[in-house]
Amino acid sequence: MDMEDQWDVITSDEVTEIQEEMEKSPDKGLAKIKEYLEKQKNTPLNIAITGESGSGKSTFINAFRGINDSDEGAAPTGVVETTAVVESYPHPNHPSVRLWDLPGVGTPNFPADEYLEKVGFERFDFFIIIAACRFKENDVKLALDIKRMGKKFYFLRSKIDSDISNEEKRKRNFNRQKTLDDIRENCIKGLRDQGIEAPQVFLVSSFELHLFDFHLLEETLERELPAHKRNAFLYALPNISKEIIKKKKEAYQAQIKYHALFSSGVAAVPVPGLSSAVDLVLVVGVVTQYVNGFGLDKASLRRLSDSSDVPYSELVSVMTSKLGGTTITPELIKKLLSQLALEGALIAAEEVSRFFLFIGIPVSMILSGVSTYRILNFLLDLVAEDAQRVFEKAVEKNSEV
Ligand code: GDP
Repeated sequence: MDMEDQWDVITSDEVTEIQEEMEKSPDKGLAKIKEYLEKQKNTPLNIAITGESGSGKSTFINAFRGINDSDEGAAPTGVVETTAVVESYPHPNHPSVRLWDLPGVGTPNFPADEYLEKVGFERFDFFIIIAACRFKENDVKLALDIKRMGKKFYFLRSKIDSDISNEEKRKRNFNRQKTLDDIRENCIKGLRDQGIEAPQVFLVSSFELHLFDFHLLEETLERELPAHKRNAFLYALPNISKEIIKKKKEAYQAQIKYHALFSSGVAAVPVPGLSSAVDLVLVVGVVTQYVNGFGLDKASLRRLSDSSDVPYSELVSVMTSKLGGTTITPELIKKLLSQLALEGALIAAEEVSRFFLFIGIPVSMILSGVSTYRILNFLLDLVAEDAQRVFEKAVEKNSEV
């Protein structure tokens, strides 16, 4: 099917199932679509973060979730005693994505030999092993155990910002790139010497995720995660680069035809005058997902303001859609749509019509589906553009690369 792309998480088998249900009755077809969309929205992703106490696990967990250390629900940082329990921290806007703060290996309650059993390794999609300096014997042993259990692990070397600033102070002929390369090489060599083949090490600062290797870690995970988990991961990622924002947009875009399909079917319910009202409710729901996914809701913007030191009002002021930092209402959507009517162009309407016919939507219903399709594309563009502006504003002060 020509509309499939890498972010389309509904498989061709599932599309066939939708068609079969649709043949029985439109209601059954729609129920199936709804089921798939819901399943996708709630895909669980469990990320294990492990490493010695003080290596920066909690700080990374908070940064990934866009939460500041002092916020409610933050993983406690800078605590001297070792984590004695396995704690999980849901993403504020995507609670099915959880980061787990695991105790260090080899602490009295979690001896190395029983570690994976004790932390309940089965539930994790992958492991991130963090070290603030070099990776030690326990880290290596753990990585090998994780591999034996059929799971994946990634090494993350934390606190790179302080290495860089220390080197800068110490060396007259300081070379940033060389310093980073040396640290990476050292870590890789250390791991290789201890028996890890081809180790991958990512240099990260949790204070500045947009710098250093976080984007490489992101790309690697995106490649290595199974398709249905990949979107969940992407939606939960902080907007720390133009590329991430673009990919989030593409992932949301790939789902629009299903929302539109759903709305065209809703019009099939013979209640006079109801179809446009129902569509609007659907649009409000989906756009709210976009705003939350791009972290443009009030709570996320406030947290971003705290961590970036850019006043909240400045972040809000760069947004042009009026969709961020507010509750999405049918009235607000109606207002924005008056702009769409002016634009006129039918965005890929032909393509989506073909898709509807393929699925088995009656011709008479296609028009309402096509308009939902156009509307959601239009609003997604606005939200993604605002996300980009907010990102640029937030890193303006701190964009040295
Ligand atoms: P945990 O015990 O592994 O959870 O470690 P924490 O997250 O509590 O971090 C220990 C200390 O390292 C805290 O004082 C953090 O502020 C600091 N820290 C963590 N990550 C970074 C980082 O990326 N850069 C710098 N400079 N300090 C960090």
